[in-house]
Amino acid sequence: MENNGLPSGLYFQVVEQSTIATSITDLKANIIYANAAFSRVTGYSEDEVVGKNESMLSDKVTPALVYQSLWSRLKEKKTWSGVLVNRRKDGTRYLADVTIAPVTDENGEVTHFLGMHRDVTDLHRLEQHVRNQKTLIESVINLAPMAIAVLNAEGQVVLDNLEYKTLLADYRSQGRVQGGPLEPAQLVLDKVKKIPTDKPAARRNFTAVEVCFEMGRGKRTRWYSCSGTYFKESDERAESFFERRNEDYLLLVATDITDFKSQQSAIQINAMRAMLARQELTQSIREVLSGAAFQLQGPLNVMGAVVHMLKHREDRGGASMSMVEALDQALASGHETVKFLEASKPVEPQEVRESIDFNAMFHDVLSISAERIRQMAVVVDFRPDKNLPTLQGQPWKLRGVLKQLIDNSLAAMNSVNNDIHRELMLRTELCDGMIKIHICDNGPGIAENLKSYVFEPFFSTRKDEGAIGMGLLNCRNVVSEHGGLIWVESSKLGGLCVRLQFPLTDMNKEPDHG
Ligand code: FAD
Repeated sequence: MENNGLPSGLYFQVVEQSTIATSITDLKANIIYANAAFSRVTGYSEDEVVGKNESMLSDKVTPALVYQSLWSRLKEKKTWSGVLVNRRKDGTRYLADVTIAPVTDENGEVTHFLGMHRDVTDLHRLEQHVRNQKTLIESVINLAPMAIAVLNAEGQVVLDNLEYKTLLADYRSQGRVQGGPLEPAQLVLDKVKKIPTDKPAARRNFTAVEVCFEMGRGKRTRWYSCSGTYFKESDERAESFFERRNEDYLLLVATDITDFKSQQSAIQINAMRAMLARQELTQSIREVLSGAAFQLQGPLNVMGAVVHMLKHREDRGGASMSMVEALDQALASGHETVKFLEASKPVEPQEVRESIDFNAMFHDVLSISAERIRQMAVVVDFRPDKNLPTLQGQPWKLRGVLKQLIDNSLAAMNSVNNDIHRELMLRTELCDGMIKIHICDNGPGIAENLKSYVFEPFFSTRKDEGAIGMGLLNCRNVVSEHGGLIWVESSKLGGLCVRLQFPLTDMNKEPDHG
């Protein structure tokens, strides 16, 4: 046999000294040779195995099917590789990673089999341990009541749990707005980027960032409290074996806080309702006292004119001096009463001006009136301008204005046939450098000839319902205090449209902190 110039006996030495348990058998798997490593792995000396069948190593745990496939491969003169459960001389089991190759003669006939195997028990134990850990972690993550996702450096989700998958499905089918990010995780990262910070923008951990997921028309908006932790993982590729490379990942955890948010907002709405009710009460006391003073002022003016006339006529118009004095006293006490009424008016609390977001304010007021709107089956068509700037203003007074105008629309719609379709259209827009607000309904409206009186004191088309007729006047006063205008027009919906506009003057603009 050609030895390619290798010293004779080298092949044997190589096999003998190999660290892989190596054996050579006849065609029935009877061992004719076993190297030193074979003895080390199995515990049998060469003498103890030569002449015996390889089946002496078999632990009967290995299914018969495995041996069948092993032998059918060998019969096809092909190499077989696989894992078998073997038993050492001392009876202990080990996992053998076995390769059996047929050895052929010059005619291509199989004469022997060459068997090589390694003990891979520890490796298997390690692999199994890692697999078990992975299964455990995946089970815990999947059972966790929060959405969890791991993102790679490119922002792609590489691992997620059931809760995240559900959120993703809901978000894609209902919530995602045209052009919005494809992944809920991206929406969270977009929100995080907008949070002002002095730290460098990239790769900073974050906690308890509240993110809102609009879930489409009629669906409940969901709120999540999100936390993100960046971590590094060693690159598993071969090229990184010597030169360690790390990959950046982000662990994102999002907890559904929708219920908590609803409770919080219910508390806020109740506080707001109480505040507006107090404001309305103060306002109506002021209105009643103003009304009484106004009503008293008319007769007092007439009386004053009469007293003046009597005092300056020689014959005092036939009245006696004592009668004139009595009239004078009555006039003085009338003036005192007017002064007293004016002084008794509760003081309007002075508000500090702050940034007003009319869109958010409409949300607040609609939440306060939600129950009434639902009971009256009013369809609210709210069209907020997404780019509406804020205005510097007095929040409670302006909130009171919106509430008054919406209440007026609801009362007007309620005053006509219950069966008709009721519609309230609310719109905000930035137009000609002004914030414009439109509140339109399909109620009975106001006759053309009365429209110029609606902002007059004590004008009301609902006097029979107990209305004093000071609400719109008060609205006009508040709007004027903000440099704005308010007027009414006929609505395309069939009822009335109240329109407001606020110029973005220096008084109203956001202060520049830049
Ligand atoms: P067996 O009665 O030996 O055989 C089980 C099934 O295998 C039979 O039903 C039959 O389908 C098939 N079979 C067995 N012998 C032959 C044959 N000569 N021709 C065709 N089909 C056959 N087994 C181990 O468990 N551990 C080892 O480390 C191992 N190393 C081996 C190394 C070599 C080089 C060779 C050739 C075989 C090796 N075997 C090894 C296989 C071993 O010979 C047995 O087939 C196996 O151990 C099953 O033994 P058994 O007594 O349970 O059943």
